[in-house]
Amino acid sequence: MLHLASLTYGYDDACPVLDIAAFHLPAGRHALLLGPSGSGKSTLLHLLAGILAPQQGRLEVAGTSLAGLSPRQRDSWRGSTVGLLPQQLALVPSLNVLDNVLLPAYASGKRPDRNRAASLLGQLGLADKLAAYPHALSGGQRQRTAIARAVFMRPRLILADEPTANLDDGACAAVVNLLARQAAQAGASLVIASHDARVLAALPDAAVLRLPRAGLAP
Ligand code: ADP
Ligand code: MG
Repeated sequence: MLHLASLTYGYDDACPVLDIAAFHLPAGRHALLLGPSGSGKSTLLHLLAGILAPQQGRLEVAGTSLAGLSPRQRDSWRGSTVGLLPQQLALVPSLNVLDNVLLPAYASGKRPDRNRAASLLGQLGLADKLAAYPHALSGGQRQRTAIARAVFMRPRLILADEPTANLDDGACAAVVNLLARQAAQAGASLVIASHDARVLAALPDAAVLRLPRAGLAP
């Protein structure tokens, strides 16, 4: 599912924020990107999502080498391959819960399957919130809406950025289990970026990539 080798990335010429010698994740397995704040976890997730373009090294995701793609090709590849749960969730405040989940379908020009979106939201305990707007939801309900949106298009790869930030132990395990269950249903690999060691306890079979604190050799 993932093949990374000699992958570096820098926002400026000064020094790379990411330097990965090698990481390989077989299809069907899950991965955890662990490291302290500033170690490049979000940067790596954005590379895996095709949001950032690789600058050097090998980056192959779900059978596609992302280095060779134009920005438009990466956008289209992402739409059909990746489900993203961003750290800030990025729900659209002017759209209700159902339309937020349908957004990836609108974006890809596909006919939105409203029944599937409603059924996913039902599974996630949001059956009575389809017409609600994000501002009227609790934090957990907003996160579950964003999870439904991330899995809606049946992506082969689900990327979650710090999904357990600010959650207590019980909620932390529940969210990781929810993501793993949704990934299993979609037949997808799940990659979670986190500074939270509790995620490893909740996903003990995951392959772990540890990113060193910025400025330190691995
Ligand atoms: P993490 O998610 O592990 O906290 P990030 O990937 O967000 O780490 O950041 C890694 C490093 O890259 C940090 O030093 C951060 O300041 C820097 N960085 C992140 N995004 C940008 C950006 N858009 N422009 C410049 N520097 C950035
Ligand atoms: Mg981050």
